[in-house]
Amino acid sequence: MVTRRKHSHRTGGVAPGYPERTCLGCLERDRKSAMVRLAAHPGGGVEPDFEARAAGRGGYLHPRTECLGRFVKSRVREFRSLRRGLDRAGRLRITETIEARLDTNRKLK
Ligand SMILES: [Zn+2]
Repeated sequence: MVTRRKHSHRTGGVAPGYPERTCLGCLERDRKSAMVRLAAHPGGGVEPDFEARAAGRGGYLHPRTECLGRFVKSRVREFRSLRRGLDRAGRLRITETIEARLDTNRKLK
């Protein structure tokens, strides 16, 4: 028996039917539904898209402090999934928005 290694686009261990995306922070693949979508607006900006409804290119990020921090500190200049360059200030603004949203959710619970 050969244990298949994950190569191109499939990851093992996740039930079919759940689309996967790569987190821009930890760079691990996970279920899309476990992450926050970042939408690249046609006008140029990138915004968190909590409802995952915005059209256009999108990137994904785990709503975790660790992933948000890694995303901000990333040396990547342009995110392929977004087709956008995003400077540190822009990333910080995005992660702050997500953090604020997380805080709100925590308070509700
Ligand atoms: Zn992550």
